[in-house]
Amino acid sequence: MITVFLIGAALATELFPIMKTPEEWRAILSPQAYAVLREEATEAPFTGPYWNHHAPGVYSCAGCGNPVFRSQDKFDSGTGWPSFTAPIAPDHVGTRQDFSWGRIRTEVHCARCGGHLGHVFPDGPQPTGLRYCINSAALRFTEETDQK
Ligand code: FE
Repeated sequence: MITVFLIGAALATELFPIMKTPEEWRAILSPQAYAVLREEATEAPFTGPYWNHHAPGVYSCAGCGNPVFRSQDKFDSGTGWPSFTAPIAPDHVGTRQDFSWGRIRTEVHCARCGGHLGHVFPDGPQPTGLRYCINSAALRFTEETDQK
């Protein structure tokens, strides 16, 4: 958990492997995906396609296709947003401190395109104790029936 917070500060001004202008992003994203990924909007709880979604598979960034979470790490948080205990791999997501709305939170984004995914909180279940609270609109699910 400490590592997550320290890395976050360093990513605030990071350049990403995939960079597009706002116009380019608008051309390929739905309005809702654009609002979440590029403007850090939060979808209303219990509205997205994945908060109550239990199929086995991989959740990728809706902006660039980078795999970011997987079903084995998904849990029912009761929040109305898809929630995970960990990313699919530590270097597939980045974090930074978010001081908006008068709260200190840890923002989570795609490490490849910088798209906003959600936030991570230190109140999750084991094995990590973390709760990655992610917007469905930032994700695209691919079913995978033979997961290792
Ligand atoms: Fe991405």
